[in-house]
Amino acid sequence: MSQQKFNQARFDAALTRQWQHLGLASASEMTQHQWWQALSGALAEMLAALPVARPTRKQRHVNYISMEFLIGRLTGNNLLNLGWYDEVKASLAKHQCDLSELLEEEVDPALGNGGLGRLAACYLDSMATVGQPAIGYGLNYQYGLFRQSFVDGQQFEAPDDWQRNSYPWFRHNAALDVNVGLGGKVVKQGGISRWEPAFTLRGEAWDLPVTGYRNGITQPLRLWQATHAHPFDLTLFNDGKFLKAEQQGIDAAKLTKVLYPNDNHQEGKQLRLMQQYFQCACSVADILRRHHLAGRHIAELPDYEVIQLNDTHPTIAIPEMLRVLLDDHQMSWDDAWAITSRTFAYTNHTLMPEALERWDQRLFRTLLPRHFMIVNEINKRFKKVVEQHWPGEEAVWEKLAVLYDHQLRMANLCVVGGFAVNGVAALHSELVVKDLFPEYHQLWPNKFHNVTNGITPRRWLKQCNPALAGLIDETLKVEWANQLDVLKGLEPFADNKAFRKRYRQIKHDNKVRLADYIKRVTGIVVSPDALFDVQIKRLHEYKRQHLGLLHILHCYKALRENPEKDVVPRVFLFGAKAAPGYYLAKNIIYAINKVAEKINNDPLVGDKLKVVFIPDYRITAAELMIPAADLSEQISTAGYEASGTGNMKLALNGALTIGTLDGANVEIAEQVGEENIFIFGNSVYEVKALKAGGYSPKKLRKKDKHLDGLLKELEKGFFSDGDKHAFDLMLHSLDKGGDPWLVLADFNSYIEAQKRVETLWRDREAWTRATILNTARTGMFSSDRSIRDYQQRIWQAKR
Ligand SMILES: *Cc1c(COP(=O)(O)O)cnc(C)c1O
Repeated sequence: MSQQKFNQARFDAALTRQWQHLGLASASEMTQHQWWQALSGALAEMLAALPVARPTRKQRHVNYISMEFLIGRLTGNNLLNLGWYDEVKASLAKHQCDLSELLEEEVDPALGNGGLGRLAACYLDSMATVGQPAIGYGLNYQYGLFRQSFVDGQQFEAPDDWQRNSYPWFRHNAALDVNVGLGGKVVKQGGISRWEPAFTLRGEAWDLPVTGYRNGITQPLRLWQATHAHPFDLTLFNDGKFLKAEQQGIDAAKLTKVLYPNDNHQEGKQLRLMQQYFQCACSVADILRRHHLAGRHIAELPDYEVIQLNDTHPTIAIPEMLRVLLDDHQMSWDDAWAITSRTFAYTNHTLMPEALERWDQRLFRTLLPRHFMIVNEINKRFKKVVEQHWPGEEAVWEKLAVLYDHQLRMANLCVVGGFAVNGVAALHSELVVKDLFPEYHQLWPNKFHNVTNGITPRRWLKQCNPALAGLIDETLKVEWANQLDVLKGLEPFADNKAFRKRYRQIKHDNKVRLADYIKRVTGIVVSPDALFDVQIKRLHEYKRQHLGLLHILHCYKALRENPEKDVVPRVFLFGAKAAPGYYLAKNIIYAINKVAEKINNDPLVGDKLKVVFIPDYRITAAELMIPAADLSEQISTAGYEASGTGNMKLALNGALTIGTLDGANVEIAEQVGEENIFIFGNSVYEVKALKAGGYSPKKLRKKDKHLDGLLKELEKGFFSDGDKHAFDLMLHSLDKGGDPWLVLADFNSYIEAQKRVETLWRDREAWTRATILNTARTGMFSSDRSIRDYQQRIWQAKR
């Protein structure tokens, strides 16, 4: 398919309908926000008329179910993908309207926490772009991830009401609404089990358009919104139990009210389980509706549809599919199982035990009694398989069981109930097989795959870094945004002095743009000539923002001891939200802010060192920070960052990575070459050995006076106005807590790597050369490549 031409007359007409709809007499009466609203509404109307990609022969349709889609602003992105940006800009200019200013009116739809949700958004963009027929299924939360601000250095959370009810990109598709049951009991009639739910909710289908890059394809992201089954339950009404019915309505609306703000951590709350089931029931019903509508037989489902589960959050779709086939379609277990187990595929995102979902069996049974029976049956049948392979070995069963010790293990259910399991980077996929699921791998070696994550170059280069995109256009003279490997063609230009100068100037201009933003939101003035050292990602101990903090203390101390020292001026930039209940993470934020306050106000330091924690890190902030970064901090404890995608965005935009051999850093290092990246720290295998060998941070501190001195400054209240307990949580973890993330164990190696950074920075031509090579050599991290890997290895592979 080819690009859809911009139709000026249709656009003008659609825009006119928008302001007329607002009850205005002319376009000139619109406020800036109404302009954005009208522009987006007009574009959405035009898009609704575009065709949906049709499956080519034998290509399975993908149903990507994810509890999170961190899509970011849509209006600018859709204009870019459609290729209508310039025409629309010119049209608006006739009304004295500036398009780029209008685009700033959009509030980020923040329907995700971090990497996992952003990945889902990048994958939708890429599926539309490579022509993979697909639909994304998620939840339409009224409140997205909280808004973050700082009060005296502490994180403060405010609700994120993103006004979904007036979001112009939404279309409520009322014909697709479905009913969903909850609770109640299972009744047996003539040997057949039937679920009689206590409550019925209504799932409304709210669609957002996902546009492919200049190929005329638009396909939906369908977000389910819960409401009461309406009209109110009439029997209850007639029985005089109206209040109860209304109560039910109120509870229903609660279901999709908020996104749970945890990243890589399970909370085990009943409402969360209800959200999961609600999403799965709506999505499975919709998938089957489409299948039937196409006139296909139910047994053919796996030939036409694949359901990709983004982590275990949507696992209940598996027993839900079985329930529908068994109870509604009256199929035998074997037939229902054959269909289900050839339809589902599962993406694993973490090995950390606290993030692997387990549900209390009582809670699960109360809410979903029929599904519990079905899971029990899966467990019982699978136990026979395990006993055949490992006769009498209870320890193996204990690991592999789906239900064990009154707990339902979602990851195990996914592995048993699906046809494919994948990790998200080469190293992570290796660990999935070796450490997490070795016995499953013995049973079904062909089920396991790797698909290294990716990012969409449309948003993460072309849109967020227009100047660099322009330089690439001009240099390569070919379309690169949907074939990112062609960036290789930039390699020779790394040796071209004039090109380096232009590349460096673009980075500088992006830094000026970010410096203006920093001034506006924090009041802090930073110099664009300093090295911008950037750590942006969720706040988590394993990501080790506190290791970054120790390096800052190291730099500050060196300056205090020798104010004349010729140092590399740096601006340390952080962006990170901590889950509201994650007190240690919040304590790290507080520590960074207090250290920042001291350093930024020390006249001795001046412009040599600045520390800025940018509040409310989100897609829109990322789009500003990434093009302006010189150094990308990817310093997780090896073995714990499954892939990372921030690392890819930054490298593509010409930031050099300082990082551990973790997640996709390993593959980034392979691509860019070891001379163009700063690798440090214990490897996965060294981390394991240290932990097994009784690693002691106490002993380490005793031996390392310098490190001990830095920690003592924090302990003594030097950064907290004498408060010796300000950072207790963080300091305890690094000391008596045993330093589980090996922050101190990696400290010296990290400082060494930072010295190498400074040496290269002082040779600005060599630095620029390395940054150009990073851009040129990170084409494989396009999410288009990830999607093609999914197609070849999982979705369209012979089964
Ligand atoms: C890319 C992205 C992430 C993921 O960052 P990692 O460094 O891979 O953890 C999180 N949040 C936002 C807003 C992003 O754009």
